[in-house]
Amino acid sequence: MSIVPAATSASKKTRPQINLEVVRREELSPHMVRIVAGGEGFGDFVNNGFVDRYVKIVFPQPGVEYPAPLDLWTIRETMPREQWPYTRTYTLRWVDPAARELAIDFVVHGDEGLAGPWAAKAQPGDALTFTGPGGAYNPNPDADWYLFAGDEAALPAIAASLEALPPEATGLAFLEVDSDADIQLIAAPAGVQITWLARNGVPAGSSDLLVKAVADAEWPGGTVDVFAHGERGYMKALRDVFFTQRGLERRQVSLSGYWAQDRVEDAFQAEKKLPVGQI
Ligand SMILES: Cc1cc2nc3c(=O)[nH]c(=O)nc-3n(C[C@H](O)[C@H](O)[C@H](O)COP(=O)(O)OP(=O)(O)OC[C@H]3O[C@@H](n4cnc5c(N)ncnc54)[C@H](O)[C@@H]3O)c2cc1C
Repeated sequence: MSIVPAATSASKKTRPQINLEVVRREELSPHMVRIVAGGEGFGDFVNNGFVDRYVKIVFPQPGVEYPAPLDLWTIRETMPREQWPYTRTYTLRWVDPAARELAIDFVVHGDEGLAGPWAAKAQPGDALTFTGPGGAYNPNPDADWYLFAGDEAALPAIAASLEALPPEATGLAFLEVDSDADIQLIAAPAGVQITWLARNGVPAGSSDLLVKAVADAEWPGGTVDVFAHGERGYMKALRDVFFTQRGLERRQVSLSGYWAQDRVEDAFQAEKKLPVGQI
């Protein structure tokens, strides 16, 4: 791969490296696989209390010799950037301190890329190394209702958020997936209506289902707390729905791109500094 590995403003102190092992792999649906990881390194993991907590999974470049034991932060200080391992960003679907395990749900999106293909084939005992966690969102307890919107890349974060809501919470959740076979059971409060949007053959990132569903929905009255994440083009269109059409204030909305069509993550991250990447 001739892509330059993504840089980060994080540090060893804010995002320590955690070294885990795959414990098991669960096929959740045709396009989603869950990797449960644990092991000795779990003791180094420090929870940050955000429901959308995410980590940067480390993928060493084949053909590059790294000093052992592999340490991303040391490599970044001592080796040229072209040789840094690649990283991929993933939400922690759940963390179970009692079992000393955590789970990450990966979209299986074909043979391209590093993380999706890795997860599809991961075996117990394989190394899972990441830095983190980061995160920024918790449902605002003062909101009157909650709105969630995302594609399958944001499904783990939205599912974790729905499960964290109090039982009396109300709201709307719109989730775009490949087909009905990718629908998951989510323990959401009874007052949150989940609408699954199946692309049925339209490629991920190319459909208008999510944006249209959010724009056309009848919104309840009162103050809304929004969490919308997913493909970059979708999020740009939703930005207009939230701020231009619905007149929401910035502080009411957690909005960000999780990936972009035809971009490996390193290119997607680099473009965040350019007009095309700004949401
Ligand atoms: C904060 C955050 C949290 C995230 N949480 C999750 C998560 O929990 N689960 C998850 O699956 N993803 C999550 N993502 C998205 C994930 O980081 C990207 O999808 C990433 O590009 C996947 O890496 P890869 O190595 O599989 O593919 P890459 O090498 O980055 O890309 C290879 C090709 O695959 C395409 N591609 C990438 N992702 C998808 C996709 N979802 N559907 C279709 N095509 C795709 C790219 O456009 C590119 O053409 C998250 C992203 C962020 C920023």
